[in-house]
Amino acid sequence: MADAKKHTVANIKTILADRGLDGSGKEIWAKRLSEITEDEAKWALSRKPGYYVLDRLLILISPAAENYIEQMAQIAHQLTLQRFGKTVRLYAPLYVSNYCVNDCVYCGFNKSHKFPRIRLTIEQALAEADIIAKEGFRDLLLVSSEDKKFITVDYLIELASKLRPKFSSLSVEIYQMSADKYAKLFAAGIEGVTLYQETYNRETYRKYHPVGPKADYDYRLIAADSMGQGGMREIGIGALLGLDDWRLETLALAEHAHYLMKQYWKSRVSFSFPRLRPAKDVDRAQFNLLFDKNLVQMLLALRLCFADAGMTISTREPAHLRDQLVKLGITRMSAGSKTNPGGYSTHADSVGQFDIDDSRSPAQIAAMLKSQGLEPVWKDWDAAFTET
Ligand code: SF4
Repeated sequence: MADAKKHTVANIKTILADRGLDGSGKEIWAKRLSEITEDEAKWALSRKPGYYVLDRLLILISPAAENYIEQMAQIAHQLTLQRFGKTVRLYAPLYVSNYCVNDCVYCGFNKSHKFPRIRLTIEQALAEADIIAKEGFRDLLLVSSEDKKFITVDYLIELASKLRPKFSSLSVEIYQMSADKYAKLFAAGIEGVTLYQETYNRETYRKYHPVGPKADYDYRLIAADSMGQGGMREIGIGALLGLDDWRLETLALAEHAHYLMKQYWKSRVSFSFPRLRPAKDVDRAQFNLLFDKNLVQMLLALRLCFADAGMTISTREPAHLRDQLVKLGITRMSAGSKTNPGGYSTHADSVGQFDIDDSRSPAQIAAMLKSQGLEPVWKDWDAAFTET
């Protein structure tokens, strides 16, 4: 039966290619978007929210729907309240290395950039984690560049085993792995992985990932499948916003999420909304940067189509915008983040991956949530819940 099912579900590469969402149908989609009318936007808003239909999402992200953002916000707020209550999970990133073998044009850790690189030993990483734990966090995201020589599976397993007593939720945002390696991480108590496709447009992908293992678009595309096959409880996906047309990225991202939800129904799929930020030696003039209103429309449109998806917003975004977004669909947010290895203690001045925009402390973020009638949640999961 399992094999029969595999044959009936197209893989994500085929799905994107068939719909022209790998960049091959860019002009057709742009034309369709430009032809959508305000009457269609009103119709889309009159439908029952919370389920995914590609044509409906297309309308919700169209220029014509920009005049209906307030209505979308009200529906998204109600939907999030129904499904997630008033809670917002708080997490902190812990960067363990900024050595990298890739040359991603937009990234401060790009291997061509010259600066003193840092790798944290297990002891140094634990010292960082102690500081994060003292701030109240129980949800920790381990982050690393593609540094397979040092940040090995064994390193992560050992670190996870030492972090488990202090953190109820561990996840990673690191280089891509195979399903069996993800399974090993899961067995060690790491239950979530976030990995962005960066851009679903093949041509744009090639332009911004010229060399290194990450230059392989198709391999990158199956990362989330590997997470599902490895049994990860949470699969985080996203596009790096600013590389290509945000509207087409949203459609591709939605198709990807829809596919993953059908294939790996035991895992929870969540969206992140990383916008390009200033980074060391990166020229931002070459990117398609988004306005705040674009990001808001994208987030609302996805919430209106995916009622149960987790939605994460990081400290890349400015305080005023994060304060608004928490009411509109966000379920998880970072606070007090450092994007440099050792940034919380031993190497405060090391080079970060990008500049953050919201530098408020975790306590200030918690106070902001409470002032809006929301409940900051430092812990909402414990792997012990599933242990037999
Ligand atoms: S985005 Fe990741 S893989 Fe690319 S250069 Fe930066 S750290 Fe390395």
